[in-house]
Amino acid sequence: MRLSRYFLPVLKENPAEAQIVSHRYMLRAGMIKQQAAGIYSWLPLGFRVLRRIEEIVHQEQVRAGHIPLLMPTLQPADLWRESGRYDDYGEEMLRIRDRHGRDMLYGPTNEEMITDIFRSHVSSYKDLPLTLYHIQWKFRDEVRPRFGVMRGREFLMKDGYNFDVDRDAALHAYNRHMVSYLRTYERMGLTAIPMRAASGPIGGDNTHEFLVLAQTGESEVFYDDRVTGLKLGARDIDYDDRDQVAKVCEEFTTLYARTDETHDEAVFDQVPEAHRKVGRGIEVGQIFYFGTKYSEAMGATVVTKDGSRVPVEMGSHGIGVSRLLGAIIEASHDDKGIIWPEGVTPFPVGIVNLKQGDGAADAACEGLYKALRAQGLEALYDDRDERAGAKFATMDLIGLPWRITVGPRGLANGVVEVTSRRTGDSEEMSPEAAVARIAQIYAGR
Ligand code: ATP
Ligand code: MG
Repeated sequence: MRLSRYFLPVLKENPAEAQIVSHRYMLRAGMIKQQAAGIYSWLPLGFRVLRRIEEIVHQEQVRAGHIPLLMPTLQPADLWRESGRYDDYGEEMLRIRDRHGRDMLYGPTNEEMITDIFRSHVSSYKDLPLTLYHIQWKFRDEVRPRFGVMRGREFLMKDGYNFDVDRDAALHAYNRHMVSYLRTYERMGLTAIPMRAASGPIGGDNTHEFLVLAQTGESEVFYDDRVTGLKLGARDIDYDDRDQVAKVCEEFTTLYARTDETHDEAVFDQVPEAHRKVGRGIEVGQIFYFGTKYSEAMGATVVTKDGSRVPVEMGSHGIGVSRLLGAIIEASHDDKGIIWPEGVTPFPVGIVNLKQGDGAADAACEGLYKALRAQGLEALYDDRDERAGAKFATMDLIGLPWRITVGPRGLANGVVEVTSRRTGDSEEMSPEAAVARIAQIYAGR
């Protein structure tokens, strides 16, 4: 993408309404525009990151054996009357009436609808296990939408629902979600710690929230700081292997890590003092096992092997896709701007032409741009007729992890400069070597 032809409405001033750094940088970098309290347009740069995050979520869900579908944002109230949640949900639910006087709502979550789909088409244990998920906009009329996309009213969520024949199979689905979530967040450059949580309006007693540690987080968290060192890494997971998956969950949930809702001072006191930490965290996901709460209320049953008919065992599992942009920025920035992890960056690399209009510099930039594209990498090429300082400031603000700087002086010696946004370290090399270096960094992406 050539910056001269892109739409990147960068703000020079700090927007007064933004209280936290991620919100400030998302506005300044021209990623989002607020349209109403808690409702945003996703401008091109923000949209690219959102799509990238979605892509990682999809890949990891499919890897775990889960199946994507798409349910609508608007739902009939009658489904929610069946579960009893139409009245329970309260003011957070946006209620709408259509021209025929039918009660509708903008879905805050989809347990009822997915249960309705299930009961319409599945009736035998032979069709289980089954996990269906979608990535779809939700609406919750939050009392205090704030912090930009972190607490929106309209927000994008991945929500998945498992259907299993018995409790053990459903608990395996729960564990499978935990492991697939760990991998998902790690690919985004995040450490998200599973913490034992309370269940709220979804119901059920087995539940973990995934928290990214950050000063600006809305949840108070209590943890043994050794959990922050646990990494799933590239290990091979067989998602059908119940024991292997359960072992990984055990590894990640044994050390003390809880939110204020489930915090237990007496147990926490047993953590060695040097490791006992109290902090704040951003909830980027939550998994629930709730058994037959919805299937019983809505008549979603299956015939088992021995011929009896039982309500299907279920759980639901959510990732805050749009909130993740804010969480990633809170975890990865400096005073000049965002520092995108390679996994989610909107463009893998930026090209800065120090002297637009100089024949050699222009030709070298074009060459780099095309050579990167041939490697499947779309660079953001700053081809504007601007001062070098302004170009660097924009690149630093929007946070691309790598920058190639091209100028007549370097070219006279046959080199360009490759700079890491995170460390600030620069290295001179030939343009060919620069392309090879960037290609190698993104080889596994
Ligand atoms: P919170 O406690 O932050 O209000 P929640 O527990 O009500 O969230 P869940 O029902 O667990 O939310 O939804 C799954 C995920 O969706 C959450 O873990 C969070 O990352 C995201 N999410 C929930 N509410 C919002 C919101 N208002 N704006 C952006 N993301 C949200
Ligand atoms: Mg939650």
